[in-house]
Amino acid sequence: MKRDNDTATYIDPVCGMAISLESAVEEVTYKGRTYYFCAQVCREAFEADPERYPHTPKPPRDDSP
Ligand SMILES: [Zn+2]
Repeated sequence: MKRDNDTATYIDPVCGMAISLESAVEEVTYKGRTYYFCAQVCREAFEADPERYPHTPKPPRDDSP
């Protein structure tokens, strides 16, 4: 698996916002996955109740009906 894609986009699991590594201000590793968050409040919401949020963020293009 290549890891040279530094421009990958991640989905903030709390607010659903698409963020890049550069714009991510918070990160949390949960059950072996790393999640990125746009803001501290999003990270805190995730940590308060991780089971509430999807553990496998959808890729940005997976929005077809
Ligand atoms: Zn957010």
